[in-house]
Amino acid sequence: MAVQSVGIVGAGQMGNGIAHVFALAGYDVLMTDISEDAIQKALTLIDRNLERQVSRGKIQAEDKAAALGRIGTTTDITELGQCDLVIEAATEREEIKQKIFDQLLPHLKPDTILTSNTSSISITRLASRTDRPEKFMGFHFMNPVPVMQLVELIRGIATDEPTYRTLCEVVEKLGKTSASAEDFPAFIVNRILMPMINEAVYTLYEGVGSVKSIDESMKLGANHPMGPLELADFIGLDTCLSIMNVLHEGLADTKYRPCPLLTKYVEAGWLGRKTGRGFYDYRGEEPVPTR
Ligand code: NAD
Repeated sequence: MAVQSVGIVGAGQMGNGIAHVFALAGYDVLMTDISEDAIQKALTLIDRNLERQVSRGKIQAEDKAAALGRIGTTTDITELGQCDLVIEAATEREEIKQKIFDQLLPHLKPDTILTSNTSSISITRLASRTDRPEKFMGFHFMNPVPVMQLVELIRGIATDEPTYRTLCEVVEKLGKTSASAEDFPAFIVNRILMPMINEAVYTLYEGVGSVKSIDESMKLGANHPMGPLELADFIGLDTCLSIMNVLHEGLADTKYRPCPLLTKYVEAGWLGRKTGRGFYDYRGEEPVPTR
């Protein structure tokens, strides 16, 4: 099935990046959020990020103007009903996602493909509560969306082949690469990445290394572009903790237990870059390790 129009629910960190890459690839985008403020911030960010691509010679000024012209916004979610593909990228809480699907379903075209950008919630469970589990999939973009090459495609137990194939084609048209993952807790990337980050926090907790020595070790000794603690701050420590909890509960294996130090940072509200402090303090000129 041909996809031309794409509805995006949630104009946050992920939603604005998803709108950016779809509009640049020639899709008509309609983005919604419950917050008008979030929509305005998203439009400003998309403009700024497209401008950066123009200044780096990656796209032309006309491409930027055309992409911006393809992005519509609304605070009325029912307007997304006519889109060929809907990507839910709202806050990572199952009850919020459930409410969004309940609002949207009565207005959707029968053949609209419905997807979620969730990092950890079961696709099969989300799909089972809709009228189209065969046309429901996990569509997991990486942050920051305009930069990251990978998109994970997660089939629920009922997802049909045409839906999967359509999304493979969409990813190709975006100029990205898809990896297919089965619907088990945290899929592929976070299943491997989060235990590594959690182990880095244990390494800090047990005094094996400082924030600086742990990050430098992994950058210079394992050739990682960012250290694990720096990366955790970038992702958000609350997100890291919530994914570790999903792994711990979903796989019932103690090797996934979240490090108490990670929990403590989250309890302190030190969530990383977004709150100005995490394993590093970002409030000054240069990030300064907090341990
Ligand atoms: P965010 O907090 O930046 O944005 C979420 C947005 O959803 C907010 O603007 C909020 O106003 C909006 N929202 C909340 N309820 C809504 C509703 N009922 N209708 C419409 N909009 C609503 O979050 P994010 O980091 O963009 O994450 C969004 C999703 O993407 C989550 O499922 C998350 O797990 C997933 N994800 C996040 C990352 C990451 O690194 N941050 C990476 C991959 C996937």
